[in-house]
Amino acid sequence: MEEIYDLAILGAGPAGICAAIYATRGKLNTLWLEKKFVQGGQIVDTYEVDNYPGLPGITGLDLGETMVKHAEKLGIKPKREPVLSIEDEGEVKVIRTKKNQYRARAVILACGAAHRQLGIPGEEELSGMGVSYCATCDGAFFQGGTVAVVGGGNVAVEDAILLSRTCKKVYLVHRRDELRADKVLQDKLFKCANVELVWDSVPVAIEGSEKVENLKVRNVRTDEEKDLSVDGVFIAVGILPNTEKFKNLVALDEGGYIIAGEDCVTSTPGIFAAGDIRTKQLRQVVTAVADGANAVTSAEKYCDV
Ligand code: NAP
Repeated sequence: MEEIYDLAILGAGPAGICAAIYATRGKLNTLWLEKKFVQGGQIVDTYEVDNYPGLPGITGLDLGETMVKHAEKLGIKPKREPVLSIEDEGEVKVIRTKKNQYRARAVILACGAAHRQLGIPGEEELSGMGVSYCATCDGAFFQGGTVAVVGGGNVAVEDAILLSRTCKKVYLVHRRDELRADKVLQDKLFKCANVELVWDSVPVAIEGSEKVENLKVRNVRTDEEKDLSVDGVFIAVGILPNTEKFKNLVALDEGGYIIAGEDCVTSTPGIFAAGDIRTKQLRQVVTAVADGANAVTSAEKYCDV
């Protein structure tokens, strides 16, 4: 007879780690799967996390490791097995990986999201050395400096406003001559005297030897290239939730996020969504760990344990 776990947790970012901690402390027979070798989710790519209470200035890698060690101390470790599919057989969910097939009564999807990348030279090489995807996390490291924000949506405009408070100068580079962001945010942005809009322009390369020094942009109307001398580049061109494999399992919103509230309950009984993968206002470590705890509480109620 195949073992039936009480709970399967997919993902070992902050939401998945916190879910594993709560599930273990709640004595649920738990299966925990993660597709990557390095656990910790998106934070491992962040140089420093300075907004997680109690651990000022910790590096993303250290925070991820500390969280995983906490779970391991309680007796649970993630298995490195990318999940291929989940089938809902009612009271039991079947989780298939390349090597195995597992069965669980409840599943928490905590597979996170990935920032959309520009795919230009220098982006990957200088990631964490001036290239950032999160102004809330990394903005403080550029105090008094000059930075560029790429994008024209709500996140890019909010980032530019936030950075304008501490940076000497902020360029906002957008590929069109009109922003996608809400008008109310645009009004706030246009009042920031140290923000310069670089319209109709796409980044073509991020340059620098050991850290970001220059952003090369091309005007899409004139094809002219120009150099922006900057200390940092914040890329805010949208994020992509890792939900491709679950689109037939749970309801998603138009952005591809799993529709779920603070209780992490999805459209499918027994399937819960925690962290960046679900619809929510703020995608941060603090909100992800809160989801992990809430998702386990909901799963416990569902399993009646
Ligand atoms: P978004 O709304 O999808 O905006 C992405 C921006 O990046 C767009 O301006 C897009 O240009 C640009 N872009 C996309 N690919 C690009 C590329 N390869 N090169 C250059 N530019 C590129 O994404 P977001 O700003 O991350 O926001 C995500 C979601 O969260 C949105 O639904 C947003 O409304 C929501 N959100 C809401 C709030 C709020 O309500 N206060 C705050 C933050 C986020 P185009 O405009 O030309 O397509």
